[in-house]
Amino acid sequence: MHDLVLRGGTVYDGLGGPGAAADVAVTGDRVVAVGADLGPARREIDVTGLAVAPGFIDAHSHSDPVPLMPEPQPFKLFQGVTTEIVGNCGFSFAPLDDATIEATGPLFAELAGGVPVVPRDFAGYLADIAAAGPTNHIAALVGHNTLRAYANGMDERLRPGALEQMCRLADDAFAAGAVGLSSGLIYPPGSYGDTAELVALARVAHRWNRPYTTHMRNEDDRLGEALDEAIAIATQARVRLQVSHCKVAGQANHGNAKLLLAKLHEARLAGVDVRGDQYPYRAGGTFLNALLPGAALVGGTDAMLARLGDPADRARLRALAEDLTQPNGFWARVTPADVLITTHATRPEVTGRTLAELAGAGDAFDTLCEVLFADPGAGMVITLMAEDDVETIMVDPLVGIGSDNGPPVGLQHPRTWGCFPRVLGEYVRERGLLTLPEAVRKMTSAIADQFGLTGRGYVGAGAVADLVVFDPATIGHDGTYAVPDVRPTGVEHVVLAGHVVVEAGRFTGERRGHVVRG
Ligand SMILES: [Zn+2]
Repeated sequence: MHDLVLRGGTVYDGLGGPGAAADVAVTGDRVVAVGADLGPARREIDVTGLAVAPGFIDAHSHSDPVPLMPEPQPFKLFQGVTTEIVGNCGFSFAPLDDATIEATGPLFAELAGGVPVVPRDFAGYLADIAAAGPTNHIAALVGHNTLRAYANGMDERLRPGALEQMCRLADDAFAAGAVGLSSGLIYPPGSYGDTAELVALARVAHRWNRPYTTHMRNEDDRLGEALDEAIAIATQARVRLQVSHCKVAGQANHGNAKLLLAKLHEARLAGVDVRGDQYPYRAGGTFLNALLPGAALVGGTDAMLARLGDPADRARLRALAEDLTQPNGFWARVTPADVLITTHATRPEVTGRTLAELAGAGDAFDTLCEVLFADPGAGMVITLMAEDDVETIMVDPLVGIGSDNGPPVGLQHPRTWGCFPRVLGEYVRERGLLTLPEAVRKMTSAIADQFGLTGRGYVGAGAVADLVVFDPATIGHDGTYAVPDVRPTGVEHVVLAGHVVVEAGRFTGERRGHVVRG
């Protein structure tokens, strides 16, 4: 007697195979059979007319603090996501100590969505989220920015012994179960690190057979160089490489998606196990201070505030920000109308407005500085990409899906609530850009394989019973930049390690997620 049978659906195996009429039987936390006449079960769900797929795996999440929120947060389950990979862009929530939290100013608080940021080592972080009970499974990367801030504060140059300490902390994190190493090389203090520093850390990942994921040093004018650096790091350290949120930013570079993909394919042919992920939008979302050149943040937030408040320093930063020959933040690569402020700790009236609106007839750079002065950790949605490039990247078989979500509170990029349904509704059904089996593969096995999540990302006997049942005819997301927190349509049932946590669209309220350790 099986525990559960999903009867009458069309199964997409996650490996790219065509949809096949089959029942799926689950016992305990595993799929035990896929096919016809599987015998009786304690519980049956009729899924006639619906698609059955492996639960989606979000390659690129910033849900690190979400399991610690007081209420369960089903925003990913409602998208069919059963596993999130957190700790991306170099920012893991461990290891942290008091000095690191102090040195990084509002940075972690801004990512935390109201959850207190407290000192923890990596094992402690994983233990705490496991004890809290995540709403879906969580696998965590250890982040270069976090390691560097811990060992070296916000200093640009490494102190003696700092790199060795970073490597020891990375080793501890992998021993605790970190599934890989991440970097975010546009964000201080990670951006102060050179290639050799990243190779040293990636070599630690190699010893644990864990991948290296990177928000590269540049995604606009120097995209090619940044890819070369990522590939060089993976080559020298002999690790799998995941290029995070593949994109081509900045109007002058639109059309360069082919360059990005050519580099990925070349590297693969040269023996690097490289893949990427992508979110299906023209806009990104990040800290507002990413508009400024890296020089603004040297020494930390207080130093940045001092510079913004000093007319000579502000003029120097403006000149740097406007210098298109150097990779100096996003300022000169967008217009103030492309920048929508989404979070602000002290002036809620500026959220939901663009820098152009806030500046009016005034100077937009000064407006930016004033907004940052009032909250150096403020967040934005920023329109950077061309739709042609988004589509070109999406059809490439090496690129999977990752949402790059923030915590599901306040105004956030709509990807937080709708990334996966948007791919299936807009890019599969409406535009016919991807087939359904291929889109499902990009959300499942393509991610599980690269992050070493064995037993996940496919539907078959022996796989972990993480399953999503959705209606291909109605799946989608109507969220917008102005009103993003809209529930997606078309996701009917979600099974998490054998437990039905969403049934007929209703979330049971249970916190059944596990911590998935490397
Ligand atoms: Zn990133």
